[in-house]
Amino acid sequence: MKYKMELSDLECPVCGEKALMVHGRVDEIPHFGRVLEQFIHCKACGYRHSDVMCLEDREPAEYRYRVNSPEDLRVRVVRSPSGFVEIPELGIEVKPGPAAQGFVSNIEGLLRRIRERVETAAKWADKEESKKRAEEILRRMDAAVSGEDEITIVLKDPYGHSAIVPEEDDKLEVRELDEEEAEELRSRIFRPLVPSGEYSN
Ligand SMILES: [Zn+2]
Repeated sequence: MKYKMELSDLECPVCGEKALMVHGRVDEIPHFGRVLEQFIHCKACGYRHSDVMCLEDREPAEYRYRVNSPEDLRVRVVRSPSGFVEIPELGIEVKPGPAAQGFVSNIEGLLRRIRERVETAAKWADKEESKKRAEEILRRMDAAVSGEDEITIVLKDPYGHSAIVPEEDDKLEVRELDEEEAEELRSRIFRPLVPSGEYSN
């Protein structure tokens, strides 16, 4: 089932102009289910937001996927704004921030986003050891996707809206989060700037 929705000239929550465009799309992700992707863009101030919601009923879960070959780059990733991403080997943890974006992508896209953060952090770091650490992280990410090293991507979502969805699941571990773990994660999520479905004051 495919479904598309487009709305224009809504009031922007940031600048107040009636210049907000909303695109919605329902997609069927194999081995996962239907998701609603939403893209918001203000033509006046440039505000952008993207969101993804799982339309199936799912339990809070943790996905762990071992990345150790170039084929892993194509593995699908659904990351909702409530998804926590970790790469334990590299000491990386990406918490859902105030401007957390949801997206349907793949491991290549996920690693690209992490790479950009690491590069930005390295650029602004004044300590030589912080720059060295960033370089080491990028080097190990490259080594893993070329098959010379291995890293684990952990994706946890206390609402069950995020997932790693490979074609073959031999490198994937999925576990349901218990209520306590889910509650702890929920308490660490910032509320998004625009609650979905409400664009007026
Ligand atoms: Zn605006």
